[in-house]
Amino acid sequence: MQKSLTLLGSTGSIGESTLDVVARHPERFSIYALTAHRNGDKLVEQCLRFAPAVAVVGDAVTAGHVAAKLRAAACKTEVVYGPQALVEVSQNAQCDTVVAAIVGAAGLAPSLAAARAGKRILLANKEALVMSGSIFMDAVRDHQAILLPVDSEHNAIFQCLPREIKLHGGVSKIILTASGGPFRTREPESLVGVTPEEACKHPNWVMGRKISVDSATMMNKGLEVIEAHWLFDLPGERIDVLIHPESVIHSLVSYSDGSVLAQLGNPDMRTPIAHALAFPERVDSGVTPLDLVQIATLSFEKPDYRRFPCLALAMQALAAGGLASAALNAANEVAVEAFLSREIGFAAIAQVVEAVLDGLQNREASGLDDVIEADDAARRAAAQAIRHLPAGLRHAAGHGVRP
Ligand code: NAD
Ligand code: MG
Repeated sequence: MQKSLTLLGSTGSIGESTLDVVARHPERFSIYALTAHRNGDKLVEQCLRFAPAVAVVGDAVTAGHVAAKLRAAACKTEVVYGPQALVEVSQNAQCDTVVAAIVGAAGLAPSLAAARAGKRILLANKEALVMSGSIFMDAVRDHQAILLPVDSEHNAIFQCLPREIKLHGGVSKIILTASGGPFRTREPESLVGVTPEEACKHPNWVMGRKISVDSATMMNKGLEVIEAHWLFDLPGERIDVLIHPESVIHSLVSYSDGSVLAQLGNPDMRTPIAHALAFPERVDSGVTPLDLVQIATLSFEKPDYRRFPCLALAMQALAAGGLASAALNAANEVAVEAFLSREIGFAAIAQVVEAVLDGLQNREASGLDDVIEADDAARRAAAQAIRHLPAGLRHAAGHGVRP
């Protein structure tokens, strides 16, 4: 039976890769809704190609532009806007599968709505799960939603675990691989003046700007440890991080009998996306087959927490429990945005996150309202930490003004 998709964040890197796979299999997948924030022009192109019933954008002005262009091209897609519209297309009865590919906390409400509506959810938006943890997983269980990881490491682990995700008999550890990003071999002292352009130049993956910076600080791997904790129900102590600069092994599962299962492939997100879209079947993703002879060597090293303090901070937040992961995520989003707009230097990202965690009055979340409140409070605390940074850590990229 054909699957009907809502693709949240269709104009982003994951969104475009998803549409590339979808276009290869029109008999399997149709699009119910596409959503973008401000990139109306790209959304128009996508609507003309995939003819969704609904398109969602962030604001009324963008909606007006998109609607006018679609009307002029005789396209019947209905254009709506705002956060509630994202929730609506994620729980609508006309879609059965929701691809959660919005970046950051903005993806939480629609992803959770999809869980509560019992959809099949393809999760790329790790921040949503990091923030809401057990609330999200409970919603999936209580409403018989199906949660399939798209993040390449988690998708790899999912492929290496027994089919029943909860059948953990014999699993001793999961091992998340990490490329180490563009600054893997740089001394921390030399990173003070790096620019957003340098931080976003990932050696193996082409991704959105926020996750690219997260990869450079390795906060991405920290968020992924927390994501793995919730997805696979394992404590932090049984989740290892292994630096693997070639990004060919996407992650591994270590079993008590000494077996280690790994999933390999070229670094292209269309593989985990195609896996999750077609699961349990397999379909062509357009990804070039892996040529191990050409790759010849795979290398591994331990992560250096001194070099990557954000990774250590995420591990601490996971161990602290309660609202610490939500605060970590919100502080990081604010700090990364400040770095991308050249307000703070690269090294200040970890300092801002640390300051927010240090000042956190942690407690257990009794519901979603607590998570949203913790997210808000951490954003305010991060803005304040930025104002109090020593002069050398502000404007360190040399420009000093928001573009
Ligand atoms: P991106 O910046 O390329 O795209 C983000 C998408 O979200 C865009 O469509 C944008 O319009 C939309 N968006 C942004 N802010 C929004 C808001 N406030 N409200 C509604 N929509 C908004 O990001 P990406 O690289 O595609 O990453 C998306 C998610 O997938 C992130 O959570 C990231 O961590 C995760 N992820 C990405 C990759 C990758 O290779 N790019 C790999 C694994 C996981
Ligand atoms: Mg990943």
